[in-house]
Amino acid sequence: MNIFKKGRGLCYLNQIDCSFDFRNNRFFKLIVPTIFVCLLIYGSWAFIHKLCINQLYNKSDKRATGIALIVTHGCLLLIDFYLWFLIVTRGPGIQPIVPTFEIIEDSNEETNKDVIRPPSIFECNVQGYPIWCPYCGSVKAFRSHHSRSTGSCVPKFDHYCSWLGSVIGQDNYKMFLQFLIYISITFGIMWISTIICYLKNFQERNHDGNLIVIVILAGLGFFFTTGLLGSHIYYIVASNLRSIDIIALKSQTMRDKIVFISIWDEQTKKRYVVEITREQYCQFWDMGSVYGNLKDVFGSNIWTWLIPSIIFTKHRRGSQTQDIEGLENILDQYNVTVNDMSIERIKDKIRRGEYVCIMDAFGDYDRKSV
Ligand SMILES: [Zn+2]
Repeated sequence: MNIFKKGRGLCYLNQIDCSFDFRNNRFFKLIVPTIFVCLLIYGSWAFIHKLCINQLYNKSDKRATGIALIVTHGCLLLIDFYLWFLIVTRGPGIQPIVPTFEIIEDSNEETNKDVIRPPSIFECNVQGYPIWCPYCGSVKAFRSHHSRSTGSCVPKFDHYCSWLGSVIGQDNYKMFLQFLIYISITFGIMWISTIICYLKNFQERNHDGNLIVIVILAGLGFFFTTGLLGSHIYYIVASNLRSIDIIALKSQTMRDKIVFISIWDEQTKKRYVVEITREQYCQFWDMGSVYGNLKDVFGSNIWTWLIPSIIFTKHRRGSQTQDIEGLENILDQYNVTVNDMSIERIKDKIRRGEYVCIMDAFGDYDRKSV
């Protein structure tokens, strides 16, 4: 078993969690975004020069349409590149270092400094020890996943986007979705206006190869980005899930992997280790309503959901000297709460006697006397 002692806590060493960032190669990371930029530049040149100027402005009486399309396309392209810039510069976020939880008694003064009281609920192994990330030297919080690209545990990790060359996590997920919305509109306008113009020219036997290329590229881009956006929105609305949750649910080996939860029960004043399925675990983050789930991603002000942020400061990992009284304080904006329905479901299991073991965490002694 991958158990090791850390201060007054015992941790479970999770060694299989880097599998999603296999493309950790600088050349690979740059080549796809470069191809994407080149295609966008070529597509924009062909669209503006060949369609808007040559076909609409010079050869027909649709001068106003030509100008309107150039202005619209220019604005959308600026927004697309600005959002891309935000996604990369802001980054996915970094989970602060979380010391291990006070599980066992230890009289050593030195090691006692590096532990915190166990939170009321956390993910653990079968014996009730929290999951430890050996790369960061930290307990992994709920929804955090270690990314080799950033070299840190990323809060609400979603995926590594090869097209944009960035990991997507809590800090840039909203921008990523906004990017998908604006790039879909960009491709959609290019695709539809070029098809209309091409069909008109086809009757006049006036062919331009660039227009055919735009129809194909913009069409592919439009269907790919709208499909991706649709699936992201669907899973957010359904249960506030991220791509990594979907992968875990769809993969047979991941789905079969049981999740263990350590939970403090106020009624019995005891801590239990309960076994749950991957499906039950993925329901932990559901806010209970469509608006609640969307709000968790886009923020509480509905009017800013589609407006690109003007803040592009990057969050840094908090220092270890901060107040380490509780997990919530350490994680701050990255703290994730489990919904009441899931907690009730786990407590029902405990009442039915369906738990793995009763855990005697030393840090709970304070709680017992409350
Ligand atoms: Zn890590």
